[in-house]
Amino acid sequence: MSQATTIFDKILSGEIPCHQVYEDDHVFAFLDIGPLSTGHTLVIPKERKAHLHELSEDSAAALGRVLPRLCRAVLEVTGASDYNVLQNNGAAAHQAVMHVHFHIIPKIHGAGLGISWPAGNLDAAEGRDLARRLTAALEKS
Ligand code: AMP
Repeated sequence: MSQATTIFDKILSGEIPCHQVYEDDHVFAFLDIGPLSTGHTLVIPKERKAHLHELSEDSAAALGRVLPRLCRAVLEVTGASDYNVLQNNGAAAHQAVMHVHFHIIPKIHGAGLGISWPAGNLDAAEGRDLARRLTAALEKS
């Protein structure tokens, strides 16, 4: 499932056009065809994986290295000072294209990403337990 081809493979191969912004050995960036605001940019690994947690370290490192630079370019060109970086994983988390991608979405005069943030309260005992289990999971990985 993770390896299924998507429309982003066709963009990477040049089979369908896009407004390309950036390319290196591991990363490709282009304008989103349905922008939430002017300058809405998608940043993808060339590696074909559906979800962030499946990416190789090389792809992850390359994405991390270039994302701030791409954000700076979006801010410079749009004049925005605020923005969101969004990365959806799974259909229930609003992922429509099953190839890892980061959205860079500038906030421009109210346009941009709308967020619902129904915050709860972290119970201290639950927090201790969760943190312990997460640390243990990380030590195994
Ligand atoms: P997501 O919901 O995180 O999977 O977002 C997928 C994004 O891909 C959406 O914002 C779409 O507008 C964008 N998208 C889909 N097809 C294309 C395309 N051919 N060129 C550029 N962006 C696209």
